[in-house]
Parts: sequence; structure tokens; C-alpha cells
Amino acid sequence: MRIQRITFTHVRIPLHEPFRISNGEIAEKDGIVVAVESDGLTGYGEASPMAGNFYSADTPASCWRQLITSLGPAMLSREFDSLETASAWLNDLPGSNFAKAGLETALWDLEAQRLRVPLHRLLGAPRDHAESGLAVGLYDTTAQLLDTIARYLPDGYQRVKIKVCPGHDLALVEAVRARFGDIPLMCDANASYSAEHLPIYQELEKYGLRMFEQPLAGEALEDSATWQRALATPICLDESLETLADLERAAALGSFRIANIKIQRVGGFRNALKIYERCQQLGLSVWIGTMPELGIGQAQGAAMAALPGCDYPTDVEASFRWYRDDIIAPLIEVHGGRIALPTSPGLGYAIDTSKLDRYRVAREVIAS
Ligand SMILES: [Mg+2]
Repeated sequence: MRIQRITFTHVRIPLHEPFRISNGEIAEKDGIVVAVESDGLTGYGEASPMAGNFYSADTPASCWRQLITSLGPAMLSREFDSLETASAWLNDLPGSNFAKAGLETALWDLEAQRLRVPLHRLLGAPRDHAESGLAVGLYDTTAQLLDTIARYLPDGYQRVKIKVCPGHDLALVEAVRARFGDIPLMCDANASYSAEHLPIYQELEKYGLRMFEQPLAGEALEDSATWQRALATPICLDESLETLADLERAAALGSFRIANIKIQRVGGFRNALKIYERCQQLGLSVWIGTMPELGIGQAQGAAMAALPGCDYPTDVEASFRWYRDDIIAPLIEVHGGRIALPTSPGLGYAIDTSKLDRYRVAREVIAS
């Protein structure tokens, strides 16, 4: 595998509604589309950190810099004998997981095209669809939260995930239960609680939630283990699990029972699969989360969510759920709570270059 040319396009697409979590809010989605050309084929990836660094320290600007000044040029000067070699080499370079995910996932698209198999088959997924769950952010009023859930539930989403933070938790869950009854429901705090808040979660247990996603800080694995011993509801870790070593430590402590795997957070498919496989060995449940990304990243998430043992619906939703437009064709749709996976080789979605132009913030081409 020799990479002849890489085109980076930073795009920005407006959201229908701001996406607010415990520690920040975005009204536009930034993504860096990475097009890697090799032997007549073009593979696409996406580097998709949250703008405003409130999910992690990475931003679109920091990833852009790394991609065009170090990671991209380094890749051009090399010859790789396999996808595994290329992916392992990239993983060992200094740099952000989000930036690396842009390049690494493009290599998987290239490889799937070369082998003429759909991406999900290359990943080892036998299913032809992914089960999709609805995720909603924080709102100014409970009425807005309930209205948003009511608007999207008819698409058949297989569970609802709401965001919580200190001061906005019990009443929200109570209101959702009162309005929608016994729907599959979970909450995500994006690391906004601390150890002394355990009584709030003990109170939340009576609502029968599927899981409590990342209540505590990413590094607070010991506190999370204390909480998991005190709670019957499974704790799901997201921000805590950046590497396989993080997973091993959290698993040894008993900090969680469910892992949310995000391809972006862990630096690409190779690392995501390693975490997935280790969870399978340890008997821990897994599911596939999203930032959310634009269409390329979302399609990658859906492909991975078709793996056996992804026991809970993915956060990948329909393109129009968040975005006024998207850069892939066709757009991702959810019918009956499912996303049908493409049968054509590679990612299976075309990249709409006119939309890359329309939403472009910056473009950079590097070639060997
Ligand atoms: Mg999360």
C-alpha cells in the first residue's frame, strides 16, 4: 500500500438545533474529511473532534494542524505491506486519536474497496443493519426535551438517551418516564458528577434505566468502581476509555459493565476492534457511540455496530436528525429503528464533492 495523495477538507455544517451537553454547546458541526489516494482508489475518513474542546482536549484546529503538518506528510513517504502494518505504524506516532482516526479509517475504506467487500464485512460484522438509538441533549425547558423525543420516536429508535448534569437529572428522567412510560431509556452525564453525588444515582435507580453513561470524570476509575458496587444499574464508560490500557485498568477495578466504543476517541478501527475484542473476552457489553460525526464517521459507526455482541443500539442516527445537510449520498436513514448497511465495496456511500465545496472552511492537498 503506497499513498500517492491526501486531500484534507475542513467542512462546517449547521445543526437544526444546538447540541448541548453538561460542559458545552455547538450550533455547527466541524469535520475534517480525509481522502487518501492509492493505486487508483480513493478511501475516505473523517477526523471529527467536538469544536470547543469540551468533550476532549482535541479541536478541529488542533487536528487540522497535526494532519497537514505531521501525520499526513509522514504517511506519504512510506510503503506499507498491509493495512495492519499501516494502522499500527500510525497508532505509534505522536498525535491526537481524533486526527489519526481520519487517516486510519480512510485506509480501511481503501482496503475494503481493494478486496471488493463492504466495510462492515472487512470489520467482521455479519449483520446487514445496525440498531439505532435516539440521543438528545440538554434543553432550557423540560417541555423542549419531551417535544424533541416525541418528534423522533416515530422513526422507531430503539432506545432514548438523555443528557444529565448536576441540577438537571432526577426531574428530567421522571418527566420522560411520565410522558413516554417504559421506553428503553438511559442517561449520559459526560463526566459532570463527582463522588459525593452517589445518592442522586441511587435515586435514579428506581427509573429502571438501561445504563448510567459516564457519571464521573474520565480518570475517576476508582470512584466509578465504588459506585458500580453500590448500584444495580450498569455504569457505561465513554470518556474514560481512550486506550486498551484504560480498559484493562477499569475492568480490573470493576469500574463499569458496559463500554461505549467511539472510533474517533480511540484513534480508528484497529484500536476500536482491539477494545471490542477484549470486552468480549471479559464478558463486558459494548456498543458503538458517536461524537456525533458527519456522514463518513456515522457510516463507519453503523458498520461497526453490526458486529456480534454490540448488545445495545448505537448512537448513530439519521443524517437529518442533527444536520441541515450532510456530505454523503445517500444520506443515512433510520427505518423501524434500523440503519441498513450498504452492500457495495468500501464505505458504501458516495462523497458529494459539491457539498465539500459548499461547506468548506479550508482545503489542503499533499502529494508524494
Ligand atoms: Mg457519552
